[in-house]
Amino acid sequence: MSAPPLPAPGRVWAHVGQPFAPSPYDVAVVGAGRMGAAAALFLRQQAPALRVLLVEEGGLPNEEGATILAPGVWSRLGLDPALHPAADWTRAALQALGDVGWETRPLVALHAEAAPGRVPTPEALAPWPDSLALVDPAALPWAEVDRDAATYRPGHVALHAAQAAIRAGVDLLLNTRAAPQPGGRLYLERLTVTNTHQIVTHETLTVPVRAVVLAAGAGGPWLAECALGVHTRHARAYRQTPHLAAPSTAQSPVLRAGGLTLRPQHGAYTLIPPLHGRDPHGYQPSGGQLTGVPTGLRRETLEDLVALMDRLPVLATDALHLGRSLADVPGAWLALPGGRANGLPTFEALDEHTWLLLGGPQADTLGLHAAQGLAEAVAGALG
Ligand code: ADP
Repeated sequence: MSAPPLPAPGRVWAHVGQPFAPSPYDVAVVGAGRMGAAAALFLRQQAPALRVLLVEEGGLPNEEGATILAPGVWSRLGLDPALHPAADWTRAALQALGDVGWETRPLVALHAEAAPGRVPTPEALAPWPDSLALVDPAALPWAEVDRDAATYRPGHVALHAAQAAIRAGVDLLLNTRAAPQPGGRLYLERLTVTNTHQIVTHETLTVPVRAVVLAAGAGGPWLAECALGVHTRHARAYRQTPHLAAPSTAQSPVLRAGGLTLRPQHGAYTLIPPLHGRDPHGYQPSGGQLTGVPTGLRRETLEDLVALMDRLPVLATDALHLGRSLADVPGAWLALPGGRANGLPTFEALDEHTWLLLGGPQADTLGLHAAQGLAEAVAGALG
């Protein structure tokens, strides 16, 4: 038997010099972060006959947004066992995408109290003296180890998922801002940069679509509200990921203590601070002050790191880079799925044409499973 014919690859419009003639699509996915790119791919895999358009305001992978700054730590630690199958599905899907920088490495969560399954910290970290040196074992004497954990590069996930989507027949429109309009139309603004580096609209278009998937990250709920007047219970938070110049190797475990994750990266560490909950509407990220000196790190994160300094003494050294201004410390807006999703990646129908897909803080471990669920639901609804 001969193999079924491969679908014709989709088209890519990278810049406004390439004319885009609007034609009808079955589904438009707004946002090519890892959630939107994966959703577009899974839609074509579920329903190869659907005409799918993926629209991204920036490039691919986008330099802004949650994906590029996501920790890229896959772990079942602390996850409700009912979610383990979704986490395992996500792991398999991530690895199937190609080279996403997947590296199996343990995650060691450090605690002040003993509990079943915890072992003494010096014992848990014995294979990694450099990691043990970051911790005060008297303050964090107990450790829980996830040997199945792994790190990877979420930016590669967005890139590979989008490339696979194009190979599967998805059309990709870059440098284009999209907004759904009531009644099954998508409004598009194709953007370009002037020679004074201003982003301006080159042309506006509308495309007839049967369904729109909002995969615009933290901007998704806002887009739903502004464009469709639909209120959701989701929120957003601004998270910065400061740099810790303590040595790490390809073998170093991921460490977690007091809600802070230390992710070995590029021979040092990226710090992923805890999220405190939603930022109020209109919150403008700005740096806090430490002993009166302005820093680039927001106040709440600074306070968390100060509170951890006795348990992780390395935080009190000049290995911690706080920056002088906000621009010195990478940061991104993150969706906080609310309501029943309670922080987990989720999707929901907003009206008969529009769906919302959110990754958020747990997208590293569970995100692709939610994108797959959305693809099934949309493919099912379109028949
Ligand atoms: P996620 O983890 O959900 O994929 P990201 O923030 O990484 O979240 O991705 C969202 C993407 O959506 C970003 O690349 C952003 O540029 C894009 N985006 C946001 N709003 C729009 C819009 N109105 N039109 C097109 N793309 C958008």
